[in-house]
Order: sequence, then structure tokens, then C-alpha cells
Amino acid sequence: MATVKLIGYQCERCGHQWLPRDSEQEPRVCPRCKSPYWNRPRRAANVAKKKAGK
Ligand SMILES: [Zn+2]
Repeated sequence: MATVKLIGYQCERCGHQWLPRDSEQEPRVCPRCKSPYWNRPRRAANVAKKKAGK
């Protein structure tokens, strides 16, 4: 029984999934939508708001 582990990335903006050529280096932008924030969840903004409310 063999387990195949794929190293891939998913864009938080457009949902695009892809496999990088160099797995040791994260891509700067999403190859599809070219967004530099592809790996940044939208939570970051919400957390700031919740923190202020508390
Ligand atoms: Zn994207």
C-alpha cells in the first residue's frame, strides 16, 4: 500500500489549485488570477474587527 502525497497550493481568492514546480518555494502570485494574496485567508480582516468589538 503506497501513499501518494501531493504538494499543491490553492488560491483563497479564485479557488484555483495548482502544483508548483519548485515545492520548496512558495509562488508569489496565483498563476490564474495573479493575486499576491492567494495564500491569505479572508479571516485576517475579520479577526481585526472582532478584536475591536471585544
Ligand atoms: Zn487565484
